[in-house]
Order: sequence, then structure tokens, then C-alpha cells
Amino acid sequence: MNIHEYQAKKLLSKYGVAILKGAVAYTASEAEQVAKDLGGPVWVVKSQIHAGGRGKGKFKGKESEGGGVRVVKSVEAVRDNAKLMLGQTLVTHQTGPSGKEVKRVYIEEGCDIKRELYLGMLIDRATSRITIMASTEGGMEIEEVAASHPEKILKVAIDPVQGFQAYHGRQIAFGLGLEGKQINTAVKFIGALYKAFVDLDASIVEINPLVVTGAGEVIALDAKVNFDDNALFRHKEIEELRDESEEDPAELEAARHSLNYIKLDGQIGCMVNGAGLAMATMDIIKLYGSEPANFLDVGGGATKERVTTAFKLILSDPNVEGILVNIFGGIMRCDVIAEGVVAAAREVSLNVPLVVRLEGTNVELGKKILSQSGLPIIAADNLADAAEKVVKAVKEAQ
Ligand code: ADP
Ligand code: MG
Repeated sequence: MNIHEYQAKKLLSKYGVAILKGAVAYTASEAEQVAKDLGGPVWVVKSQIHAGGRGKGKFKGKESEGGGVRVVKSVEAVRDNAKLMLGQTLVTHQTGPSGKEVKRVYIEEGCDIKRELYLGMLIDRATSRITIMASTEGGMEIEEVAASHPEKILKVAIDPVQGFQAYHGRQIAFGLGLEGKQINTAVKFIGALYKAFVDLDASIVEINPLVVTGAGEVIALDAKVNFDDNALFRHKEIEELRDESEEDPAELEAARHSLNYIKLDGQIGCMVNGAGLAMATMDIIKLYGSEPANFLDVGGGATKERVTTAFKLILSDPNVEGILVNIFGGIMRCDVIAEGVVAAAREVSLNVPLVVRLEGTNVELGKKILSQSGLPIIAADNLADAAEKVVKAVKEAQ
């Protein structure tokens, strides 16, 4: 789960991460009031969307004007810029061409920036450790730095038993070329960020830029936090920060029904039980020359209703040109799957080829339900056969 910059900053500041004063506004007059309260003389109006690259982003239809982050020098300019941004669509390299509508702006104090650095934390699955990444190339896309100058990214992995220690912090501070008092300030900053990461069950925290001010302070000027969805049940206060309007509607609907659904760019919709089988199914679709339209794991104990929802989700994707249902009935019974598929296919008019491969508990009954349904379902005997059949059916339908 993602949250907005202003929410991330508020959360992190409770752990002692240094941020500037600011507040969110939903209207231009709220923005004006916030600006008055902050006092100035410099303010920054920041579009709040769940995507980065806002500073360099452009508003649709107003490409010649400023981006999604603007530095201004009067209360009136705060109000006017908030008015210009609210309700407009901001396109950044992370939003894709359709962009995202700005519904809130964050009004923050202006900062006297001396240096822009990068600081990130994530769980490195190769080492199973929280890894801190830092770079002097702040403000830039870290992926770009990693590709062109990998030597400019400093990585420090933290042993979970030992936890974060001051020497980890110093290693990073030295790597970033910090000097004098800045070193201790940075060590405290990174320690606070690490504590927040662990406590909040984050999966990624990114401070880009982390700035050194003219006065030598170390401050988070941007903050991006991603949470581990599997741990959200123990963070009700984070769950409340969810902004559903920022999320993919299909993925939201899937989450409501406890389905693991991720939309992809291909043509073949997949409905599978078990993450491993889902991965194998996606692989074999590629092997036969097509691309999966989604990852979808209906889970072990799926009901007819859940299968129906899953099926509708797949069909709601306009890119889907064929569907492959691949179920191994262990805990899940094949007849339940079959009933779900038939119910869903009846409800939403099925206009693409559907290949079903069932195996396991009650497989004969499941196959009977499918064949007696009168629906144009192509039966398959095994995984390879199923993939081959669905790819072929999609090609023939074109
Ligand atoms: P994004 O990464 O989405 O473009 P940032 O929050 O990183 O958004 O802002 C983009 C740039 O705007 C920063 O790199 C920084 O140069 C400038 N900026 C952001 N906040 C402030 C601020 N409070 N004071 C001065 N400049 C700022
Ligand atoms: Mg940024």
C-alpha cells in the first residue's frame, strides 16, 4: 500500500526524521490559510499524487506552464498555484500518459538547499536484509543512476539481529561526503528512518532528495513509503491513510475479495490457484508465444463467489483476448471452480476463447459441469496442452 508524501512525512517525523513545516490543503483558500500560518517568506506548493517525478511533470493541456512542485514567494501565489493544480491532471514519467488528477496539495516551507542527496531503504530479497541505499546523485531517478553509474550507489545491509548501529550511519554519512556536525545529524536521521521502517512494516522508504541546508541541517524534502500489505492488519492507523482514488480499481476490487491480482500488459487472462502454479502458468504462456494479461491467484479456499469475482475481474480488462483457467483442486474442489466459471461466464457475456484445465479433487464432476453448461469452453488435459490451446485460439480469433 502507498500513501501520499505529506502523510509519509507526518508518520516519519514521529520517529524523529527531520522534515519542514507544512500542511495539506484540498482547496485554494485552505492553501492560502496554510501559507499564512506558515509565514513564509518562501513556500512550496506540491501536488499530492501516488507517483514520483512531480517536479518535472506537466499538467495536461498546460504543458508550457510549471510542473507539479512550485516554489513561490507570496501567499497569493500559493493560492493561485494551488488553484491551478487542484482538479488538473498531472503527467509524470511514473504516472504513464494518462496521468493522475491532483486532489490535494501540500504547502510546505521553502528550503535553502545546498546539496540534494538520495537515501532509500528496502528489503533486499537476495540477502533477506533491510538494505540502506545512498547516493550523492539526489533528485535524480535512482534507477537511472543505478544503470549509468552503479558505483555511485552505496549499499549497507543491516543484520536483523544486530539492528541499525551508529557505524552503519557513519559509513553512509562519509559515503555522502558529509562533514562536521552533519555526520551526527545524518546518523540520527538514518537511525530514525530505520526504526520507522521496522515499526511500520514498510517495504520501501525513499527520501529523494535528502537535503543538506545552508545551515548544515539534514532534512527529508520528499518522502515515499510503501507498506507490506500482509502486515497492514496490525496497523489500523496506516490503513486509514489509504486513498482509494489513487489505486487501480481492479486491484482494489481484488483486494476486497482477498484475491491476489496484478494487472499486466499481455492478452491472456489467467485464473489459477496457488502463486507457484500462477507463475508457472504465466511462464508457459510466454513459452507458447503470448503474454499473460494478469497474475491471479484465487487462493486455496476460494468460494464460488470469489471465483465469479475473479472471472469478472479478468474480463473487465479490455486487453484480454483469451482466458486460461488452470486449477489444481487440492483443498479447492474442481466442481466449485467449474460452477464459478459457468456462473461468471453467464453473467458477463463471454466473447473471448476460454480454455480450462482442471486436475485434482472432484475433477470429473467439474468437467461435467463445464461440458453441460453449453458454453464454448475448450477443455485441456495438462498445463502445456492448455497453454498451447489458448494461444492458438487467440491467434485464430484475430
Ligand atoms: P518529485 O520527486 O515528485 O519530483 P520532490 O518532492 O522531490 O517531488 O520535489 C522536486 C524538487 O523540488 C526537489 O528535488 C527540490 O529541488 C524541490 N523542492 C521540493 N520541496 C521543496 C522545498 N520545501 N523547498 C525548496 N525546494 C523544494
Ligand atoms: Mg522526489
